[in-house]
Parts: sequence; structure tokens; C-alpha cells
Amino acid sequence: MTTQANVDYNVDYNVDYEAVIGLEVHIQLKTRSKMFCSCDREYFDTEPNSHVCAICLGMPGMLPVVNEQAVAYTIMAGLALGCDIPTHSKFDRKNYPYPDLVKGYQISQYDQPFCLGGKLDIEVDGEPRTVHLERIHLEEDTARLLHRDDGAEAYALIDVNRSGSPLMELVTQPDMHSGAEASAFLHKLRRTMRYLQIADADMEKGQLRCDANVSIRPRGQEALGTKVEVKNMNSFRSVQRAIEFEIERQAQVLAEGGRIVQETRGYVDATGVTVSQRSKEEANDYRYFPEPDIPPTVLDEATTQAIRARMPELPDARRARFESEYSLSPDEARTLTDSRERSEDFEAAVRAAGGGLARPVALLFIGEVARHLNELGQEAELSETPVTPAHVAELAGLLERREVTGTTAKEVLAIAFETGEMPAAIVEARGLKAVSDEGAIDEIAARMIEANPKAVEDYRSGKKSAIGFLVGQVMREAKGRADANTVSSLLRKRLDSGS
Ligand code: ADP
Ligand code: ZN
Ligand code: MG
Repeated sequence: MTTQANVDYNVDYNVDYEAVIGLEVHIQLKTRSKMFCSCDREYFDTEPNSHVCAICLGMPGMLPVVNEQAVAYTIMAGLALGCDIPTHSKFDRKNYPYPDLVKGYQISQYDQPFCLGGKLDIEVDGEPRTVHLERIHLEEDTARLLHRDDGAEAYALIDVNRSGSPLMELVTQPDMHSGAEASAFLHKLRRTMRYLQIADADMEKGQLRCDANVSIRPRGQEALGTKVEVKNMNSFRSVQRAIEFEIERQAQVLAEGGRIVQETRGYVDATGVTVSQRSKEEANDYRYFPEPDIPPTVLDEATTQAIRARMPELPDARRARFESEYSLSPDEARTLTDSRERSEDFEAAVRAAGGGLARPVALLFIGEVARHLNELGQEAELSETPVTPAHVAELAGLLERREVTGTTAKEVLAIAFETGEMPAAIVEARGLKAVSDEGAIDEIAARMIEANPKAVEDYRSGKKSAIGFLVGQVMREAKGRADANTVSSLLRKRLDSGS
């Protein structure tokens, strides 16, 4: 006998569902030492199990000491995200047995986290949206398990270097409605962390880890549906795809008359699906209790203010300022504030170029400079190249004074990216100065008219666009060093007068 799913053919397959998503995000903080000991936190690319001490291994009798820098970074993140910073917080022990938790408990925060509430404004498909936060708390990271399978047997290796590193956990309200929205939230969150220089938040490197809680409900219904927690995503793209898959899966289950069960599912990158890992019944009881070895934290107003004073201008504020201060469009300002470094390079170049050159400097950064950087990688910065803001400033000046043409400027910049030479020197050494002598250009124009009777005839018989071809010919002859507007007006003068 075959068993068959109990399909209810009376269900409405056309219910319009709305997805509801809440994220739990873990972010590694870029402190010098670990959360409760003096071990170096920068254990990357080092020997496994080389950065560890009795404290981060949880040996009996060892006392943890709170890393003040990690607390300051968490408060900074909270202030940047508009959270309330309560004066009283504390650490708690979260108890669970798992091989990645060498001491059998994790020091975390339960009911008195450092930051409460808050929000992040994002944009999805050009529409402004606000994602509200529940809280941000601070905890310690676990060891890393390395799963191996040598054919004969499967086993796991443990690297405790990561144990006890400061980890910030941020929990959003169930406020998002699509995979794209979750992805936009994570991008903006990463940019904010990088502006603050408290985390690199690179998902591929595990510096940002994200679990997605997903439910669906008939559109218009207020009560939330049963949520499923999705884990195992290791890029923004996979977060988006995992959520999109999960929404579809849940809609399908309901359409077939089934019920959503509360469970944890793992995303499988290779196939783009989520698979069940464990159900609610197997959920852990962590038996939280106040950490007995760490006194509660009291944060007075002065301390919070001192932390606030150390914060840089944030992306949204900087973008608004760029728009008004440099007369840039919202898109241009957004591109220039994409990273803190890029925005600072731009402003350094504007200062170096002197007043009035902000626009040509901006256009160089958005255009050719960005093109060269993108060739180096998605997140490449000018500091990784021989080109400095001073190069861009000098090139903008040459363009503004028409000492080089737009075509030559591209060539000059390409050479600068190769050699690091300054633009004026490149122009000088290679004879790339713009041909400003109208007589010389006019002489080339006359020769090109002579050599292209077909285009001349087209132009004179009313096909005015034929001039474009002739401009191209003159420009090529002048090796890109003639000004296109001058060329076109000299050609027109000759063609219209019949000479
Ligand atoms: P739990 O008690 O299971 O930890 P919480 O209420 O603490 O659940 O929420 C954890 C995360 O799940 C939060 O990001 C929250 O926004 C999200 N969440 C809660 N309920 C839902 C739901 N019905 N659908 C989607 N996300 C949800
Ligand atoms: Zn240690
Ligand atoms: Mg919870």
C-alpha cells in the first residue's frame, strides 16, 4: 500500500500571502584582544589552537575580565542604529552542550542587553523602508568545527582560536517582507559597521553570520504565521535566495492543505533549497543565569556621550551633505559614499583640487576611477593602487583647463594606475597635451573633408548626422587630443560654406 499526502482539494490555491521576516545577525567585532582575556583576537591565518589561554578555554578558577573596547563598539553600533542605551546591563551564562563550546556555557546577555530598540532605514527597489530592531547584545564566539571526511571515516576537528572572540548579536523585529529587503538590510548594516570601523562584516569570511526567521500569512491578516528559522547561508545572495525559497515552500505547503511546523531548516547552497534540521520539540533550554564572575555594568551618561563623540559621520548624513555641498544628484552622492574610504578620498581630492572643481572630481571618481577599481574587485579601494586623491585632483584640473581632452584623460589615468606617475608629468612626458591650436585642427578638418566625399555629400543632402563620422575621423587623426566641440564647429563651418 502506498501512503499519500492528505491533499485537501477544497483549499483556495489563490490566497495572496505576505511574507514576514526577522533576522538574527552575529557580527565579529574588530577589537585587539578577545572578549574576556588578553589573547590576540587576530588569529586568522595562524596555526589552529595557537591563540588560546586558560580563560577562553574556561578552566576552573579563571576570572574573565570584560574587554572595554568591545563594549564601546557595541554601544557605538547601538547609537548609530538609534537604540536606547540602558544605564544598567549584565552578562549571563547560556548553558548548552556542543563540541564548539569548550567550556559548556557561553557568556552572553539575556534580559539586560547593552542596546534596546533602534532602527535602520533602507531602500528596496527605490522605495524607503524602515527595519526596527529588538536589541543588540554582546557575547563570546565559539570554536570552529572543521568537518572532514577522508573516505574511511568522517570526523570533526576543533580550532579554538575563535573561542572567546567578541561577537555582537543584533535581532530585528519581524519587519521585512522579501529576500531582497533582507539583503538590502544586511548591505546597509555592513556599510554602517564599516563606517564605524568596528567590524568588517564580510559574510564570506564568517565575520557576519545571519539566521533568517520566515513566516507567511494571508495578506491583510494581522496575526503572524508560524515561523521557520533558516540557517547556513554564507553570502548576502544566499540569504536572499534561501528566504525566497522558504516563502515559496511555505506557500506550497499551505496550498496543499498542510500546516507549517515550527522548525530549524538549513540552506543548501548547491541546490538552493532548505532542509529540515530540527523541530521545536528538540529546542534547547539554555538555563540562563547571571554570570557570577562579572559584575553588572553601569554606563553613565558621560561614558555614552564620550563614545558618541568618537563616531564618524554616517552614510545617510554624508550622502545628504554631499548632495547639497557639492551639488550632486542622489545617485552620484550614493556612489561616492558607498564606503567611508571612497567618500574620504573624494573629499581629499576636492580639497587638493581647490575650489570649484568638485564636479569634475566627482565625475572622475564615479566614472573612470570606479571602473579601474571594479577591475581590481568589488570592494577595492584607491589605497590599494598607486593612484592617490592628489592624482585625481590634478587630472580634474587638467580637464577643467582643457589641457587634456576627455579621451586623453582616460589614457592618463590608466597610465597612473599602472605607474603611479602624476597626471601632469604623464601628459608632459608623452606629449598628450590637447591640441588647442585651432589652425592645426582646421587643417586636419580640411584634409578629412577632402578624403571623405561620401560623408560630405550625405551631410549636404540633409543627413546632418553624417558629421559624427567626420568628427570621429578628425579626432582619430588628432589622436584624441582635439576638443570634440571645437572639431565639430570647425567642420560645420567648412561644410556649410561649401569649402
Ligand atoms: P524565539 O523566541 O524563537 O527566539 P523571538 O521572538 O525571540 O523568537 O524572535 C527571534 C527572531 O524571529 C526575531 O528576529 C523576530 O523578529 C523573528 N520572528 C519572530 N516571530 C516571527 C514570525 N512569526 N515570522 C517571522 N519572523 C519572526
Ligand atoms: Zn584567551
Ligand atoms: Mg529569542
